Amino acid sequence: MKFCSACGGRLEDKVPPGDDRVRRWCPACEVAHYKNPLVVVGCLVERGDELLLCRRAIEPAYGKWTVPAGFLELGETLADGAARETREEAGAHVEVLAPHSHLDLTHIGQHYAMFRARLTAPDIKAGVESLECAWVRRDDIPWDELAFPAVHFALRLLFDDQDAGVAHVHHGQIRWSGAGSRFSATNYELADHLRTPVRP
Ligand code: ZN
Repeated sequence: MKFCSACGGRLEDKVPPGDDRVRRWCPACEVAHYKNPLVVVGCLVERGDELLLCRRAIEPAYGKWTVPAGFLELGETLADGAARETREEAGAHVEVLAPHSHLDLTHIGQHYAMFRARLTAPDIKAGVESLECAWVRRDDIPWDELAFPAVHFALRLLFDDQDAGVAHVHHGQIRWSGAGSRFSATNYELADHLRTPVRP
């Protein structure tokens, strides 16, 4: 951010009075313009042994596969946002069943809240941000063609739980190794993983 959204004046870096870190500061208005993390909400929609995936029609990660997910809007609950993104990207009307994972990506200032969900109407249809949507079996997940590391880890946690026969709510940090592509899950690890079993 270069200019003040209130007066149009040029911003500078400054630790405001009483603060403990550098902010973008407008000397004319004497206010700080804070930059805070973004929340990404999404759904793991299951149908039997299949999962709903979308292929992205927008950058970043154009042409890659993801679960329906996007940025939370103001005034929206996490669950409502996840259901809305699923409607927009996959034309799918869903009921949110349970929280699945909270994943911190502090290196890009994003925090994912993923939910498990099921369809309330049978039809799916690719939205404007999707090239296509599909029901994908676990063995057919395109791991090398997934859009985002957070999606990779959410799916892995889901399948690990299936193997163990116990569903969990997960929490953890998806920590970048500091080298290599930020879009490749191989350059990340799941750190500080906490989990709580949920009753079926
Ligand atoms: Zn200003």
